Amino acid sequence: MTARQRVVIIGGGFAGLRAARGLRRAPADVVLVDRANHHLFRPLLYQVATGLLPAGDIAPPLRRILAEQRNTRVLLGEATAVNPHAQTVTVTAADGTAQRLGYDHLVLAAGATDNYFGHDQWAAVAAGMKTLRQAVELRDRLLHAFETAAASRDEQARRRWLTFAIVGGGPTGVELAGQLAALARRTLRGQFHDLDPAHLRIVLTEHGDAVLAPFPDPLRRHAHRRLRDLGVDVRLGYSAADIDEHGITLQSAHGGDPQRLATPTVIWAAGVTPVPLTAQLAEDAGASRDHKGRIKVRPDCTVPGHPEIFAIGDLANVHDLPGIAEPALQQGRYVAKVISHRLGRGPHPGLFRYLDLGTMATISPFDAVADVRGLHLHGPLGKAAWAGVHLAFLTGWPNRLGVLANWAWTLGSGRRQQQLILDTRTVRPAAARPA
Ligand SMILES: Cc1cc2nc3c(=O)[nH]c(=O)nc-3n(C[C@H](O)[C@H](O)[C@H](O)COP(=O)(O)OP(=O)(O)OC[C@H]3O[C@@H](n4cnc5c(N)ncnc54)[C@H](O)[C@@H]3O)c2cc1C
Repeated sequence: MTARQRVVIIGGGFAGLRAARGLRRAPADVVLVDRANHHLFRPLLYQVATGLLPAGDIAPPLRRILAEQRNTRVLLGEATAVNPHAQTVTVTAADGTAQRLGYDHLVLAAGATDNYFGHDQWAAVAAGMKTLRQAVELRDRLLHAFETAAASRDEQARRRWLTFAIVGGGPTGVELAGQLAALARRTLRGQFHDLDPAHLRIVLTEHGDAVLAPFPDPLRRHAHRRLRDLGVDVRLGYSAADIDEHGITLQSAHGGDPQRLATPTVIWAAGVTPVPLTAQLAEDAGASRDHKGRIKVRPDCTVPGHPEIFAIGDLANVHDLPGIAEPALQQGRYVAKVISHRLGRGPHPGLFRYLDLGTMATISPFDAVADVRGLHLHGPLGKAAWAGVHLAFLTGWPNRLGVLANWAWTLGSGRRQQQLILDTRTVRPAAARPA
């Protein structure tokens, strides 16, 4: 009797979780490795960071999702190395113990992390928003900035604490800017009577010449106008030249003197790069990477020369698709079909083909832009489409209902439930000093 095949999946995000679920009936032993114990719905992270949603609403535990799947084991730990020749993955647990897992099929779906474009030191002062912890820390920092401004008797200091700089005008930066404006103007105005709303300043910088670059021009212009209406200061053609705990220096693409913005709160939403494991695997497997650091895979999502290794989602380049959720989901589903076919279950799905279902970004509580296969929506209609799609893609009914209830409450009452500062250590006292 031949032994059951072993499938190891690294990463329980959009791509990896979808692959694992697609293998639920496969005659194989599946191990899903993730360094977090939850599946994170990243598109709603900014709503956690701005106090609209509790963390648990967008992060169901992987074990709960896969509890009924008898052929699948969830392993909490960091995949620290892949040996493509010995066909093993080294997984290191939080207590430092390491174990080696052998595989017959490997799915690398570990996603991406922040890209500071050679300025990694900025990570300490301009945190990104990729993980649940980062989102909760950002919430602490935002709420703490309001508290510190309210407590201060020095008008210059107040102005600095009420200045927020967001670097990157893609969907993450736009959504965060819009939501922060709503948090500040709608929710906090009624609670911080000694703060002057005129002192609030949200600056969104984008090095390109438009926000929401991947969207069609009319939707980009709509988003820009709406952000301006919300009071967001949108600076196009500006890049970060320097960031420290006192503020950010901006350089215009059109030349001129650098501009300094004094603020303790700089948020990085400017780009992503594949997790480090990607480079290690590519090098050891003899695969090449594109200019974004993604592994160039074959049209069936396998690493060239290694039909047993699949790379999918944000860390892989197949047809140069954008790093968004839908390609990751479709690749996960596809890879599960290929592996199932190899195990004697189901037909071969052919080469991977992407079905573009559209892109969306929200701007304010009643406005979002959506490009659905050439149909351009914005305003409340765009928002309804955005809300429907996000609810549909959330994992599990408890999370869908939780998110829906929180949205309804916030829209109806204008209040946010998650106005807690959990840890004041994340706010650097030195940032309160004059710039
Ligand atoms: C703030 C933000 C907002 C976004 N908004 C949108 C949006 O509105 N619409 C949209 O379509 N896309 C959006 N995206 C992009 C989308 O989230 C990604 O394209 C998608 O998550 C990619 O899926 P993935 O499976 O490749 O990676 P991920 O979903 O990131 O999953 C990777 C998983 O791998 C795990 N992992 C990483 N390294 C290791 C390791 N060494 N060992 C073990 N586990 C590891 C991580 O914990 C994670 O669970 C957004 C992304 C961010 C950060």
